[in-house]
Amino acid sequence: MSTESLQPKVIIHGGAGLSLKDKGGKDAVRAALQGIVQQVYDSLRAGSSAVDAVIKGCQLLEDEPRFNAGTGSVLQSDGQIRMSASLMDGEKQSLSGVINVSRVKNPIFLAKELQVQTDRILSDYGAAELARELAIPPYDPLTDLRLLEWQQERKENFSKKMATVIAEERRGTIGVVVLDQQGRIAVGTSTGGKGLERIGRVSDSAMPAGNYANNLAGVSCTGIGEDIIDECFAARVVIRVTDGLSLAEAMEKSIKESQSRNRDLAAIALDHQGNIVWGKTCEVVLAAYHNGQTIGDSLDAATNDYIGVITG
Ligand code: ASP
Repeated sequence: MSTESLQPKVIIHGGAGLSLKDKGGKDAVRAALQGIVQQVYDSLRAGSSAVDAVIKGCQLLEDEPRFNAGTGSVLQSDGQIRMSASLMDGEKQSLSGVINVSRVKNPIFLAKELQVQTDRILSDYGAAELARELAIPPYDPLTDLRLLEWQQERKENFSKKMATVIAEERRGTIGVVVLDQQGRIAVGTSTGGKGLERIGRVSDSAMPAGNYANNLAGVSCTGIGEDIIDECFAARVVIRVTDGLSLAEAMEKSIKESQSRNRDLAAIALDHQGNIVWGKTCEVVLAAYHNGQTIGDSLDAATNDYIGVITG
């Protein structure tokens, strides 16, 4: 079979958490995720590279105010939005990203620009300078809903450790993992963070712990960033595949280890053979995929179903 004729694959997520707030919430999340999966899949079918398809998917998810990335990001303890995003090109095994950037519409575009630069991960001030150099217009990603939620938290004297967005007790970081028609893998992850965190806190989303790929597998994480970092989760799964485990085995082993340490996280992944997998230690992960035949999602998975495997 020529590499040109490979079947592209996509899996995306919009975060994870305890439970979806209500049925209407679930239907709306499903419609949003599935619509975006279809668009990313269509672009891969039309010949888009893995990297371009990931950027497109992240952009669409960042622009969907329901999710906690780009427009609709949660506010930090001081009432400001600071976003983080990264892009990893599995073919080049190259990560780029921004940490705690403000006033841009699509943090993933900055990660894209940084792929070709010498300094590939920039934090707040440097990321703002890059946006200015690129003449990216300033943009306020704040939505009325997020402001109201933050004001409510303030009334309650910030009794919660983090913001609640889609799923109870959790946010809605986004992630995209794809395999293109030439067998290349890319991954992107973008977040507004946990919400209510102290200024300067760094998310996992622009680290190899939260977003990692090589030529064999790619993984994007969501959940408590500190737990994802402690497990170095995304890189852990990819390295296990590199050392010979199947993607499902690598995910299962890594999730079980995380459960044994009471970590609160979830991840989506795919490999170069087109296998698609998700895993979670929490109740729900908001994931949707296109396997070349159909679109499916993880929204109805049982609480104790900690892994989903869609073989390629
Ligand atoms: N992992 C993100 C963070 O800790 C939050 C999330 O995925 O919900 O910044």
